[in-house]
Amino acid sequence: MKAKDIAELMDEPACEHNKKEKSGCAKPTPGATDGGCAFDGAQIALLPIADVAHIVHGPIACAGSSWDNRGTRSSGPTLYRIGMTTDLTEQDVVMGRGEKRLFHSIKQAVEDYNPPAVFVYNTCVPALVGDDVDAICKAAEERWGVPVVPVDAAGFYGTKNLGNRIAGEAMVKYVVGHRDPEPLPESVQRSGIKVHDVNLVGEYNIAGEFWYVLPLLDELGIRVLCTLSGDARFHEVQTMHHAEVNMMVCSKAMLNVARKLQDRFGTPWFEGSFYGITDTSQALRDFARFIGDDDLTQRTEALIEREEKRIREELEPWRKRLAGKRVLLYTGGVKSWSVISALQDLGMKVVATGTKKSTEEDKARIRELMGDDVKMLDEGSPKALLQTVKDYQADILIAGGRNMYTALKARIPFLDINQEREFGYAGYDGMLELVRQLSLTIESPVWEAVRRSAPWETPARQGNLLSAQG
Ligand code: SF4
Repeated sequence: MKAKDIAELMDEPACEHNKKEKSGCAKPTPGATDGGCAFDGAQIALLPIADVAHIVHGPIACAGSSWDNRGTRSSGPTLYRIGMTTDLTEQDVVMGRGEKRLFHSIKQAVEDYNPPAVFVYNTCVPALVGDDVDAICKAAEERWGVPVVPVDAAGFYGTKNLGNRIAGEAMVKYVVGHRDPEPLPESVQRSGIKVHDVNLVGEYNIAGEFWYVLPLLDELGIRVLCTLSGDARFHEVQTMHHAEVNMMVCSKAMLNVARKLQDRFGTPWFEGSFYGITDTSQALRDFARFIGDDDLTQRTEALIEREEKRIREELEPWRKRLAGKRVLLYTGGVKSWSVISALQDLGMKVVATGTKKSTEEDKARIRELMGDDVKMLDEGSPKALLQTVKDYQADILIAGGRNMYTALKARIPFLDINQEREFGYAGYDGMLELVRQLSLTIESPVWEAVRRSAPWETPARQGNLLSAQG
């Protein structure tokens, strides 16, 4: 990838904070790939496309360090779970065999699994050696008649966020616009209801959480042509240009996709979240508003009223247990505000939130939700997190998996909110799962047990020991 292409991706006009004097995303700094390189970002953005063969062109360590690190679920094919790599070695580099290995890897993937497409991820070593990945993909596509998509995302190009955009760029450039959607089956047509097609961009179906939302959209007559990329299929990505509206589910990842689909196909887009009652209802309203179908608007309002009533009743017993509990939320990006909204729906108090990966818009939203006195944490070192828990008397730390041991060693209740988590929290029903997990975590008897002094630390026991010694 040329420096000019990378600069273009960093300069995303759809970003609000791109209008400042120093526009665009932060420049990569040494150590910035700690937490994910560009390749990692590109792969996790596309890996959930379940029926594609994903080949990592590079040394085994690239695939080994990042494969399957997102708890995304598929309702059908499982090909995405098979780790494929060209496994380049020093010998391959010295002998110039990288391109040949890639060609043979694509052949093996096509012959063994017959996928609808192959994605090839370029990494640091072949990018430095100068392998012509685009040419190999083209030759393989012609040879086997299967789309082979190059995703040129060598780790040293920049951060994980840049990798997300590179992935989105590859989809817009090579995949979207190549197929029409399937006609709607007779069995799902309902008289008087016009079905509208939409896409979701940046929804990854972590722990299957989008399946809490999908039945609501089905009921409203909103057909999801494609979620880029949770539980997606290759042919669905090809049809994305037919949607009437796109929803950006994560504010930073793949923003360029929504903007480019608008530029090329005129599809409007909005940003939203499915975390929390308020935001889920707002997202449904926004779909109806952008589509502009009065009947859909009325049915949406009726559905929201029914679902909000139902879920508030079901949450009531849990709300009593959680009301007033104090939370330190350390997560990045869109989750920094969308999860606040969900916790506020439960009557919990967020005392501080992490903003390291948040955009200016994310921060503005946080202030809108919590007022100016909220503590925003730009630094997430274990020491800073623990000090904040102590200073603000937080009852629980909600953060990503890498902070789990910080919390547990300090004997603080911890809930994983990031992509590796085991539970889905989206939509109205996701709130029930969230309260269940919050309550189980905070009320676990383990905290009382581990915070108690050890038997040999109690005064009585120490007295006994001293008299025994005497
Ligand atoms: S692509 Fe580069 S930075 Fe990323 S895992 Fe591979 S070698 Fe490391």
